[in-house]
Amino acid sequence: MKLKRNKKRYRYASGRRRLYTRRFMIVSICTILVAAIVSAVIFIGSQLVPRVPVASEGPSQSSQSSASSEKPSSEESSQPSSESSESQEESSSQPSSEPSSSQPEVSVADDAPAYQKKYPDLYVTDRPKMHVLDDDAKVVYLTFDDGPSDLTAPLLDVLKKYNAKATFFNCCQSDYQEEFAPLMKRCVDEGHTVAVHTYSHQFKEVYQSVEAYLDDFYKMYKLIEETTGQKPANFFRFPGGSKNGYNGDVYQDIIKEMTRRGFIYYDWDGDSGDAAGGNVSGATIYANTMDAIHKGCNIILMHNIFDKKATLEQVGKIIKTAQKEGYEFKALDGTLDPSHGYLMTTKEFVSAAMDSQFIQLSDWRMEKEKAKGNR
Ligand SMILES: [Zn+2]
Repeated sequence: MKLKRNKKRYRYASGRRRLYTRRFMIVSICTILVAAIVSAVIFIGSQLVPRVPVASEGPSQSSQSSASSEKPSSEESSQPSSESSESQEESSSQPSSEPSSSQPEVSVADDAPAYQKKYPDLYVTDRPKMHVLDDDAKVVYLTFDDGPSDLTAPLLDVLKKYNAKATFFNCCQSDYQEEFAPLMKRCVDEGHTVAVHTYSHQFKEVYQSVEAYLDDFYKMYKLIEETTGQKPANFFRFPGGSKNGYNGDVYQDIIKEMTRRGFIYYDWDGDSGDAAGGNVSGATIYANTMDAIHKGCNIILMHNIFDKKATLEQVGKIIKTAQKEGYEFKALDGTLDPSHGYLMTTKEFVSAAMDSQFIQLSDWRMEKEKAKGNR
């Protein structure tokens, strides 16, 4: 009897033990599961958080950089004085100059044109939002095309004398010009902007196809980068302007491709007339330029190739007179919205820029497009 009772007790006890063990295992498994879920959530969170500070590095985070640059502070900071806009230019161009090789994992569709896959380092991924000038703003951007040349050093001396800044759209058309390429470094060191015009300036070659244009552009881009030690400007100028007698078949595709890569471009709203053929007199260049400035033009077309001595001779007088009238001479820094009257191809540019993941047009332009129902 006693034995039976003990056996019963033993069975009862071992049954309870099994029950406890099972419960214990269920509780343990649940705990492990919960812990795994919690740590997975923490891990994912920690992966997301540190991405914010590197927003400007990669194109995939461009929406973050766009969100931050929509704050008025960054837009205003590019406006108040020439110094602040230059320092912004430097600070935005320098950090991106180093990681260019590790740059960007821009996704290009498999069926995209082959030229989109070329030059993976030819992107502007850190472009700030653009602004426009007030109609009565007394700001002049002298732009000098086709240099450098033997007239570049004397031009830099004149600009220095009047503490004026300018923009150089440069080429490397010949061995002769290559000799002057080192002057691009002096341009940058003295606070001017150096941007790509083209390498060869041969209309028939560069406008043969989008690919031919890119090949030529990249060559000049690299030359400027190697010579100056920093990235060229994040904008450029087409030889002959954005629409000319040589690029009718390709200009729209080139605009689309360059804006896709984050580049913008400027034509001009004032022309010094120094390329009008023949020997344009200094007096005409002076009169054309002052006239344009007084009409409220901001971006003035001039040239700095070897046969433009007449231009060089007028620059000092133009700056001196206009400065007395309260005008300020600045270098373009890529924050001025080109669609505010500085393009021959406004419609094409705006539509391409709105498709680009890197370009943020000015509020002025976006309001205009909204009113038209374009966005
Ligand atoms: Zn040119």
